[in-house]
Amino acid sequence: MKYLSTRGDATPRGFSEILLEGLAPDGGLYLPTQYPKVDAGTLARWRGLAYADLAFEILSLYIADIPADDLRSLVRKTYTEEVFGTREIVPLKPLEPGLVLEALSNGPTLAFKDMAMQLLGNLFEYELARRGQELNILGATSGDTGSAAEHAMRGKKGVRVFMLSPHGRMSPFQQAQMFSLQDDNIHNIAIEGVFDDCQDIVKAVSNDLEFKRHWRIGTVNSINWARLLAQVVYYFAGYFQATQSNDERVSFTVPSGNFGNICAGHVARMMGLPIAQLVCATNENDVLDEFFRTGTYRVRKGAETHETSSPSMDISKASNFERFIFDLLGRDAARTQQLFKDDVDSKGYFTLTPEEFARVAEFGFVSGRSTHADRVATIRDTFERCGVMIDTHTADGVKVARERLQSGTPMIVLETALPVKFAATIVEALGREPERPAAHVGIEALPKRFMVLPADAEKVKAVIELECAVD
Ligand SMILES: *Cc1c(COP(=O)(O)O)cnc(C)c1O
Repeated sequence: MKYLSTRGDATPRGFSEILLEGLAPDGGLYLPTQYPKVDAGTLARWRGLAYADLAFEILSLYIADIPADDLRSLVRKTYTEEVFGTREIVPLKPLEPGLVLEALSNGPTLAFKDMAMQLLGNLFEYELARRGQELNILGATSGDTGSAAEHAMRGKKGVRVFMLSPHGRMSPFQQAQMFSLQDDNIHNIAIEGVFDDCQDIVKAVSNDLEFKRHWRIGTVNSINWARLLAQVVYYFAGYFQATQSNDERVSFTVPSGNFGNICAGHVARMMGLPIAQLVCATNENDVLDEFFRTGTYRVRKGAETHETSSPSMDISKASNFERFIFDLLGRDAARTQQLFKDDVDSKGYFTLTPEEFARVAEFGFVSGRSTHADRVATIRDTFERCGVMIDTHTADGVKVARERLQSGTPMIVLETALPVKFAATIVEALGREPERPAAHVGIEALPKRFMVLPADAEKVKAVIELECAVD
């Protein structure tokens, strides 16, 4: 399997070539040249496989340049009961007839990003060793992504992580998840500023091409194809658990921000997984809901981006969305480039033609939106009626899923985080603190390892140089 760019660069690249890359050189996103189709016989064979073995079957359709035995041991090392808490890895939790949660947040940092990031850590270590190279991952985080990346990369050979976060602005729980790591290859840098300052520093460092090349700077953001591919697996795993036979269809509702998670559902559907609807749930930052209602994709300005109680969905643009639009347009790279490069960059939005927009339905997509009041009401209602405590992001999903139920088609809502990560809203909704998994009790009291720097890219570069020189 080879990869091409959504903006027309069709130089055939293998999986391990794009593994460590962000954007394609032409500014597009990587996609496989075609989606492998899964027939009834294959689905029948996959039903009943252990999660790691299912992951191996799916990944090996997309990865031609890692020997099968190596790939199998990488996924078996990643998806273990020890790391993800259950033998199923992604067990279903019934809420009410026709509506179930798929638990994706029982990994080390209690959010679904662990599902992909844990695999990425093992893939990076493997590929860097094979090439005799090192990689310095530079990132900015306001919480979930940074901690998932650090827990995935800790102790990995050939990898250092430099993670910038806004000093004093993360919750005590989030700080503890990151700053308590004592591994030599993890560097927490608290920046005197806000999240945007952290992101600006990452951009400034990455734009210094000489520095970037010399110090081998990379990222682990959500446009990485390997992350998306790892997420395809749990759509299959959810389907097999929710159905008795491969004639049945299911729908998925996905609490969405950068469109990475639900884009994996789109890939699963393109492969032939019997998915009826892919329901895209947003919070007040409704860029995606607006698109699915109107055909207009309008990027928000900083001042228009709301800070909500489901903060991991607070986006101004959806960085993976171009992948879906490319497929929707029948893989017309010139038209994709026109929409994302010319229109979005110059006007801040694009509008599909009525004929183009009409195709959205063929891809199964619908959407909905949720607000703080909806989240609080949904958390309360789900706890009182179903006895299940859900987090704020999952609550956005459950709220929108209920509006999209179709009789006879099970609806699977992806649970993207555990409630303990967003305790304040749980207290508001239920008047009590969320349950905390045993491994996370008392983590706020652990010794912390981080440095504080002013919002200055040169200071961050100096730290990277120093740490690389020490090793
Ligand atoms: C990242 C994240 C999301 C959004 O996922 P996308 O792939 O960006 O759409 C939703 N919920 C939680 C808890 C997250 O951490």
